Amino acid sequence: MTIHDLRCDVCGRVIPLPADGVRFSYHPGRADLRDDSGLACAQCWAEAVRDLGEPGGRAACAACGAATSRSASLHLRRPGQPSSWRLCAADAVAFLNRLRTVEPKLDPATFRFPARERRRDP
Ligand SMILES: [Zn+2]
Ligand SMILES: [Zn+2]
Repeated sequence: MTIHDLRCDVCGRVIPLPADGVRFSYHPGRADLRDDSGLACAQCWAEAVRDLGEPGGRAACAACGAATSRSASLHLRRPGQPSSWRLCAADAVAFLNRLRTVEPKLDPATFRFPARERRRDP
């Protein structure tokens, strides 16, 4: 990571001190696709997780409550947080499309979690 990376992934604001940013990581149901480079300012992070409730526990989307399987969820967590939030496809796309690092933007109509693709592709 370089100093140039210390910008909020959501609003683009420069985060003056690493301590002011919130690190987060996420993966789409496959740990090998984990992205650990997430960084948000405290304000954007608070907004992003405001409606998610407590992470972990139920096999359901943390945002809308729809049932989701482990391989068909976006798993989102802060480093050191014992369990992840799960997001269904629609909420995963909504979350990821807020990130400046996600380019090109995902299309909710065609978005699929990669675990399914892999089974078809030996
Ligand atoms: Zn921000
Ligand atoms: Zn959802």
